[in-house]
Amino acid sequence: MKVLGIETSCDETAAAIVDSDHNILANKVLTQLEEHKPYGGVVPEIAARSHMNHLDRLIRSALEEANLDFDQLDGIAATAGPGLIGGVFVGVMTAKAIAAARKLPFLAVNHLEGHALTARLTEKNAAGFPYLLLLVSGGHCQLLAVEDVGRYTRLGGTIDDAVGEAFDKTAKMMGLPYPGGPMIEQIAKSGDPKRFDLPRPMKGRPGCDFSFSGLKTAIRKQILECASKGKSTEVDIANLSAQDKADLAASFQLAVGDVLVDRCKKAMDIFQDTYGQPGPLVVAGGVAANLTLRARLTELTDTYNTSLLAPPVKLCTDNGVMIAWAGLERLRLGLTDSLDFAPRPRWPLDQLTGVEAVKT
Ligand code: ATP
Ligand code: MG
Ligand code: FE
Repeated sequence: MKVLGIETSCDETAAAIVDSDHNILANKVLTQLEEHKPYGGVVPEIAARSHMNHLDRLIRSALEEANLDFDQLDGIAATAGPGLIGGVFVGVMTAKAIAAARKLPFLAVNHLEGHALTARLTEKNAAGFPYLLLLVSGGHCQLLAVEDVGRYTRLGGTIDDAVGEAFDKTAKMMGLPYPGGPMIEQIAKSGDPKRFDLPRPMKGRPGCDFSFSGLKTAIRKQILECASKGKSTEVDIANLSAQDKADLAASFQLAVGDVLVDRCKKAMDIFQDTYGQPGPLVVAGGVAANLTLRARLTELTDTYNTSLLAPPVKLCTDNGVMIAWAGLERLRLGLTDSLDFAPRPRWPLDQLTGVEAVKT
């Protein structure tokens, strides 16, 4: 079984093909970073137009890489939400057109389910259901029990910012370019994580919720102190030395790690009570690319005698492979979608359709 997956929910235009033997036959990702750079963030209108300009060519080149024709595919999947709706429309309409013209099943994939199931493609049998999922990305920070395709129980989530957002905002305050996550991880390597005393929001609290806005405010305060060199009237970001930035990045990353470990520990206890096992713990989404955070989570899963599963770094941030794979998982369960499926700008994971809903 082979499925084409299309991803256009944010600022990556992506097309990929996977098969049911866990092979990635093609993986094309075109980032729009340069197009949005002058505006300091993703501009939805520009994103949608850019997806429109590049998607057809990208799909062609994915087919060429896989040495396949449309007629050799078994399904066409596209991100149908959540995300920037103009971009989502482009991907969904393209997928529907191919599906209609070639008489192939159409699969409306939830972008978050794409992140959630990627480890099942790359880790194969290790990521059998149920597993605990830490979803940490640009727009989300959640802990969920993954019971099956389309069956998610939310254990907790952020009450304000997403983790990726906290990385991006912290980087921006230090004058580092978007996306901030990879930059912070890089410069933190030469930093002292103990230099700045930052808060660990929600640590030790009951439940599995997160909060990152207080951490962001604390970072801003430290930056202003460093940048003013003690004189509050002369705040100039240029006063931040490379060492200051590295120390801030390392301290921030340590605080985030402490919070994630604490919240995951709580979730593992709850998961153990419900499913009789504490894991495995799967970490997914763009922030899962962070190797320091992965190492912290591995220490945690080790103490519970379970494993941490994470997709390879380049499959953590947005890509078409994750959409193709989620589409394939749905296709083999018969969870296809009709061509009048309406894209959804908001679409929480625990509101998905699974096999049981289809049967009843
Ligand atoms: P969502 O999946 O919630 O809709 P998104 O699709 O925009 O959001 P992803 O591509 O999944 O986000 O992840 C991008 C985020 O991951 C950005 O915030 C980025 O800074 C962060 N990120 C990427 N690499 C790293 C890293 N090495 N360390 C920390 N954060 C990272
Ligand atoms: Mg992106
Ligand atoms: Fe994403």
